[in-house]
Amino acid sequence: MIPPPFDYHAPGSLEEALALLGRLDDPKVMSGGQSLLPMLKLRLASPANIVDISRIPGLDSITESGGFLRIGALVTETALEESAVVAERYPILLDTAKVIADPLVRNRATICGNVAHGDPANDHPATMIALMAEMVATGPDGERTIAVDDFFHGLFMTALTPGEILTEIRIPAPGGAPGGAAGGGAGGNGLRSPGEQSGGAYLKLERKVGDYAVAGAAVQLTLDRKGTVTRAGVGLTNLGFAPIRASGAEEVLTGARLVERGGFRGAIDKVRDAITKAPDDDEVIAAAAQAAADATDPVADRRGSVEYKRNMARVLTERAIRRALARATGHGGSGSHGGATGHSGAPNPPAGG
Ligand SMILES: Cc1cc2nc3c(=O)[nH]c(=O)nc-3n(C[C@H](O)[C@H](O)[C@H](O)COP(=O)(O)OP(=O)(O)OC[C@H]3O[C@@H](n4cnc5c(N)ncnc54)[C@H](O)[C@@H]3O)c2cc1C
Repeated sequence: MIPPPFDYHAPGSLEEALALLGRLDDPKVMSGGQSLLPMLKLRLASPANIVDISRIPGLDSITESGGFLRIGALVTETALEESAVVAERYPILLDTAKVIADPLVRNRATICGNVAHGDPANDHPATMIALMAEMVATGPDGERTIAVDDFFHGLFMTALTPGEILTEIRIPAPGGAPGGAAGGGAGGNGLRSPGEQSGGAYLKLERKVGDYAVAGAAVQLTLDRKGTVTRAGVGLTNLGFAPIRASGAEEVLTGARLVERGGFRGAIDKVRDAITKAPDDDEVIAAAAQAAADATDPVADRRGSVEYKRNMARVLTERAIRRALARATGHGGSGSHGGATGHSGAPNPPAGG
């Protein structure tokens, strides 16, 4: 369990780090080292040079500006968990951070490292898919922005080139952020327009606390004033060779009216739905969850059979949709994260599965 030899570099600035990545033979970026060091010890990676970016100042901020939540390269899981803006406005991120590994790992592991690693078993990629995030990569020619759908290329493969550092993750703010322009209104890339409601949730099934997911589901929903879903994001963890966007589930959810109105207008709506034989909420949610399960391509391993994992994808997606809906409509508990831990109470696999 001793890593192969490598030269270690600890640049003091982003410019210095980029210069090292450009100049050195076979370099590898290290931030928290929580995935890279195990890979070195298991000899699954053997770079000649390690460029440790963890001492570069100015890369550890979480801010809302310009219509985005911006997560810097060195923001750790612990910092995310302790962020007031995340707790208040992005409960899905809190769900995700809380179910990763243990506090010792979370004190060092970064969100950007979690995503840059390109491991479909990591938890943040699915959440970033549900949130329609963008990745900001800085390289020798400056910055470029990569949509999350273009970022994951396969098992441990991402759109990052060896000379680039993932310096920021940008998440569209719900309804625009303080000082922001991107969030609200037509053409904005925020999660909702004025008058709309947005909520999300991440649920993970794990064999024991701190383990990688058997399966995980991230759902972010935006609803208009009438309770119609205007935008749905559904991402899945550890159910294929790359993190999965469940587009079929998103299509089922988008346009569905999931919140019933009360009073006279609600009664009229019900009559209309009966006449047009519109599916009720439970049918829509069940169909979306099944579409998510159909999008998976799991392999059988110690965590369960293919059938079990597919079924867990369905169960977790259904529960995540309901929790996202409750949060979007303000029924998700205090601070809109509803006291949820994100751990799922899904059933155990059958013996031997
Ligand atoms: C005991 C244990 C349990 C774990 N359980 C979980 C779990 O349940 N869920 C989960 O999601 N993860 C889990 N992990 C994995 C780990 O938490 C994440 O992969 C970690 O967040 C990676 O971040 P890091 O900063 O430590 O990255 P590092 O280990 O430093 O790097 C990981 C990879 O990403 C690259 N990289 C890192 N930062 C950047 C950057 N800014 N720009 C470009 N490339 C970069 C590195 O070159 C390397 O290839 C676990 C790890 C351990 C040790």
